Amino acid sequence: MPELPEVETIRRSLLPLVKEKVIGQVRVFLAKAVKPGPEQFAAELKGKRITDLQRRGKYLLVVLDTGQNLVLHLRMSGRLVWQNKEEPLAKHTTLVLDFLDANSLHFVDPRKFGTAALVPPAEPPTGLTGLGLEPLTTEKEQLLTAVKKAAARRSGPVKGLLLDQRVLAGLGNIYADEVLFAAGVSPLRPAREVTTAEWERIYCSIVEILNQSLRHRGTSQRDYVDGRGEPGAFQNYLRVYGRKKEPCAHCGNPLVYTRVAGRGTHYCPVCQP
Ligand SMILES: [Zn+2]
Repeated sequence: MPELPEVETIRRSLLPLVKEKVIGQVRVFLAKAVKPGPEQFAAELKGKRITDLQRRGKYLLVVLDTGQNLVLHLRMSGRLVWQNKEEPLAKHTTLVLDFLDANSLHFVDPRKFGTAALVPPAEPPTGLTGLGLEPLTTEKEQLLTAVKKAAARRSGPVKGLLLDQRVLAGLGNIYADEVLFAAGVSPLRPAREVTTAEWERIYCSIVEILNQSLRHRGTSQRDYVDGRGEPGAFQNYLRVYGRKKEPCAHCGNPLVYTRVAGRGTHYCPVCQP
């Protein structure tokens, strides 16, 4: 699933392409993916100009000249493809925005969990009100205070807390594993038992790893490509995720794969006590 670095990379790649474009025809191929229903969705988008693309957590927001937002979530396998209107549709295309010029933006989604919701002008946009803090733009003390407060209230493992979008917005399974390895904290540790010094290390690892991934334009393991169809390269720098039984980069002992908070989890039991 695209996480913060991937969605941000998509945003950066698409912004210069979509900015100031006016939407013409809207083609919906999967009714359940759009809100409101397909006919109203298409009618409301027609004639609107795109003024900006923003990101909040793993959501991409297409900002329209009316102040409305088209809120996109790529979920498991969604991707956005910029192409000429006349080019044939890719397999699994669920939605197409045709612009008044020759271009179009396609939502391609093999697993079909992705969504596109047109929401009225509001700050924050409707549907995003419960989202937690942005890890790269929130001031350190504010973020650590919020995370420690959330940790004190829960009995579950620290990895579950990092994945909770109501606390931090944008971290998913790949980056939670990488962050905890870099910080030397076991993903199984109860969140409320993580020490202040460990939270400091976790915070620094979050910032460092998300920024590293952004520099490499995200992690392409399965479906992810940016808005121009280019894959990222951070998969070459992952130290634990997807490396079950491989030797740990620090200590050489085999990495362990288990399930934590319902998600497949990779860690080193020696380096992450
Ligand atoms: Zn190790």
